[in-house]
Amino acid sequence: MKLAVFSTKPYDRQFLDEANRTAGHALVFFESRLHAMSAPLANGYPAVCVFVHDQLDATALSILARQGTRLIALRCAGFNNVDLRAAQRLGMTVTRVPAYSPNAVAEHTVALILALARRLHKAYNRVRDGNFALDGLLGIELHRRTAGIVGTGKIGSLVAKILAGFGCNILAFDVVKNPEIESLGGRYVSLDELLALSDLITLHCPLSPDTFHLISADALARMKQGATLVNTSRGKLIDTAAVIRALKSGKLGGLALDVYEEEADLFFEDLSNRVIQDDIFTRMLTFPNVVITGHQAFFTDAAMRAICEETLANVTAFERGLPPPGLLVAEKVRGG
Ligand code: NAD
Repeated sequence: MKLAVFSTKPYDRQFLDEANRTAGHALVFFESRLHAMSAPLANGYPAVCVFVHDQLDATALSILARQGTRLIALRCAGFNNVDLRAAQRLGMTVTRVPAYSPNAVAEHTVALILALARRLHKAYNRVRDGNFALDGLLGIELHRRTAGIVGTGKIGSLVAKILAGFGCNILAFDVVKNPEIESLGGRYVSLDELLALSDLITLHCPLSPDTFHLISADALARMKQGATLVNTSRGKLIDTAAVIRALKSGKLGGLALDVYEEEADLFFEDLSNRVIQDDIFTRMLTFPNVVITGHQAFFTDAAMRAICEETLANVTAFERGLPPPGLLVAEKVRGG
């Protein structure tokens, strides 16, 4: 099938080309992001492949549908950037890769937690600079700390498992309980209780109207003094301005992020020679107790291989008229 791949970086091309040796689709790569203005590039392609910063709003989708696109194949798990209702209305199929490697994200989450806990981000630079002083590097142990996991699906439950291995007490909040949590000795509590009792809060729920700014000024006020907040899920789960105020007051003792509210203007690009215009983001970089990575939690060789294989498997199934394994929205049966 002819597939227009958007937001292509060299690593996407490498892993997609590799996976396509067996899938055999006709891939055409575009570096541009897909949005209403760039949608004409996909003219005549029955399928497009997109990533987290492509904007498939109702306008972009109607342009694509008019041009003959019937399949939107997301090469990621989250789908908050696609207007699913509009896709359904337009009779399009939308697929994603629900579980390529939850381990990749869970392990990166724990890497961020440990970096903050042991001040690795500061120690690394100090040692390279010949500064072996320990002042300012006092760490905290995870053993016996209370970790609050918000969202206990594939990634959240793995984070819980790893943190339980460190000897953390596990508290969890989710709209659906996962028996794995209780088998680890964890306990489901209300969100209020989790906020009040956790030394460390880590977010693993999807972004939806219900979870937008889940960590608001009010939620921050209800947290333990000096708690650590970690977000490797989606940036808009957190009110960043409120988080900055909490860092300044000391209410928040540490922050680790792999995602950021306005990341679409920054992440995945080399901006090292430019002046970053986002004052909220640059303010966060000034805190000694903040560690940020640029949406790289998913980025491992195993995950990239799985993402590309699963994405193309969705395309193959669609082409053959079979239900794609990562189906989100099914194409309307013509005339039905
Ligand atoms: P999942 O669907 O397995 O788990 C999500 C969990 O969140 C589910 O248990 C669900 O019941 C729960 N949930 C839904 N609404 C909730 C609410 N209002 N409050 C509390 N819990 C709620 O998904 P997953 O594979 O574990 O992924 C979790 C998130 O991680 C994704 O939505 C995605 O945004 C993010 N993610 C980030 C990266 C990265 O590279 N940083 C990579 C993959 C996924």
